[in-house]
Amino acid sequence: MDTAADRLKIAVQKSGRLTEQTMQLLERCGLKIRKSKDQLFCYGENMPIDLLLVRDDDIPGLVGEDVCDLGIAGLNVIEEKRLNGTFESGQTPFHELRQLGFGECRLSLAAPEAQEWSGPQSLEGRRIATSYPALTRDYLDRNGVNADVVYFSGAVEIAPRLGKAEFISDLVSTGSTLVANQLVELETLLDSQVALIQTNAPLSDAKQEWIDRLLQRMEGVMQVSESKYIMLHAPRTAVAEITRILPGSEAPTILPLEGIDDRVAVHAVCRENVFWETLESLKAAGASSMLVLPVEKMLA
Ligand code: ATP
Ligand code: ZN
Repeated sequence: MDTAADRLKIAVQKSGRLTEQTMQLLERCGLKIRKSKDQLFCYGENMPIDLLLVRDDDIPGLVGEDVCDLGIAGLNVIEEKRLNGTFESGQTPFHELRQLGFGECRLSLAAPEAQEWSGPQSLEGRRIATSYPALTRDYLDRNGVNADVVYFSGAVEIAPRLGKAEFISDLVSTGSTLVANQLVELETLLDSQVALIQTNAPLSDAKQEWIDRLLQRMEGVMQVSESKYIMLHAPRTAVAEITRILPGSEAPTILPLEGIDDRVAVHAVCRENVFWETLESLKAAGASSMLVLPVEKMLA
């Protein structure tokens, strides 16, 4: 298969906070790409996968309208689009395949320090500036509160100073933008990270097979990023205790040491990072000659 119709099309952010990590993830899944001159389209040289480089806000729509088979975007834009419900069918035409563990942020409600706040009812009759009107209205509805949602396409944090709103709901990661604008974070409306979505339209078997393969590779890449391979020597009698200390390890491999009867070599894959504190605990349990190695690829 390699006709244009059989090539998977994935919508990704053209340039922004998600671009580097998205491209890195796809590269680590084995994809080699050639950028076209206009740089809106990337051709996958070694897999039947092409990338469409677009604004992140357009990604759920492109997948929903079947222009792309898959999309990689923040849950904030995915959920906003889903709640917006401006699809012909009236139903959400895409579904989430998996969350990808980067681009973490939250949609939070915030207000100037002097603003009175004793819970969602403090919003009654007030104005909230946001770039996420659907998510914000959904929060108001869930709390049975009536408030005006004022749409801002950007620079939401200055809305209170402009006298346009008493509250804002905006994306926060470290919170430094809020602090710089003398705003206090009040409540989280949505916890977000990047997710992979797929169109609900039926796909050819060939495309679906590549999606399954890509998902399996993503699984491996995500596990590997934290995983370590650890090797150490330990007294035979301490193996049970040492296995207990190793973070997120399955049954370790126990190997004899030439000429030494009371000590063995222990090899294990730890699915979590191994910190100095862990090595110190292992040493206290009798381990020596400890070596921690990064894991490059993993396939369950
Ligand atoms: P585009 O031109 O693609 O529309 P943008 O300016 O809307 O870009 P970015 O600022 O690059 O978007 O943010 C993209 C995504 O990064 C957000 O939708 C969100 O999922 C995620 N993100 C992570 N941390 C933050 C943050 N502190 N502020 C805003 N977005 C964040
Ligand atoms: Zn955007």
